[in-house]
Amino acid sequence: MDWARQINIKNPAEIAIMREAGRINATVLATVREHLKPGVSTAELDAAAEDVLKKYGAVSPFKGYGYPPFPNSITVSINEELVHGIPSATRKLKEGDIVSIDCGTFFEGYVADSAFSAGVGEISPKASKLLDVTEQALYAGIAKMRSGNRTGDVSEAIQKYVEGNGFHVTREYTGHGVGRQMHEGPQVPNYGTAGTGMLLRPGVVIALEPMVLIGTHKTKVSKDKWTVVSADGSLTAHFEHSIAVTEGDPLILTIL
Ligand code: MG
Ligand code: MG
Repeated sequence: MDWARQINIKNPAEIAIMREAGRINATVLATVREHLKPGVSTAELDAAAEDVLKKYGAVSPFKGYGYPPFPNSITVSINEELVHGIPSATRKLKEGDIVSIDCGTFFEGYVADSAFSAGVGEISPKASKLLDVTEQALYAGIAKMRSGNRTGDVSEAIQKYVEGNGFHVTREYTGHGVGRQMHEGPQVPNYGTAGTGMLLRPGVVIALEPMVLIGTHKTKVSKDKWTVVSADGSLTAHFEHSIAVTEGDPLILTIL
């Protein structure tokens, strides 16, 4: 992929703007989370997200992205849907669903990108474990986002955590650099080998995003040309933060 070759180191002023974009993105996701109840349509979740973006003078880079152009500001992916689900007025949340919400915020020329998964009402113990493992895999990756490490250290940490818990990581979709563009280099897969890949240094900003499946690493794309589902129909989850490498601890940009 061409975008994966474009690596842009951000200066402190750029990181500060991206932190603002990340705060807005976190506000969007917190608002959508409040709406996760049985009977709510996925289009209503998208509308709630758009309201928050508008309030801050921001837009989502998802809208119009790719081909066919993605029609909405967030993606809503339910149960076996891993990523890129298209919001719809007729698709309603049900008790026991697990829902993954991904949102981008484009603000003052920079993008923040983040996602979470959560249950609707009561969920099964297996679904609950999937959510925990996926979120903790993200933090295992974040812990490796230190100057002097390589992207392979991050990838391996995510893969080991997920597979150590008996689940699978996707092969076709990866974490990525983020900045003026939603997708910049480097690509950071959810699998890999420590000591390989690009050297991390202060100013590298990466959207890390473990995408985890219970039964298989294999996926397929639905007829709508966007929604990615597990090949075996098993449950999936997705967590994502945009993180800056610093001289010290990793800086998570997409929190309040
Ligand atoms: Mg995302
Ligand atoms: Mg992303």
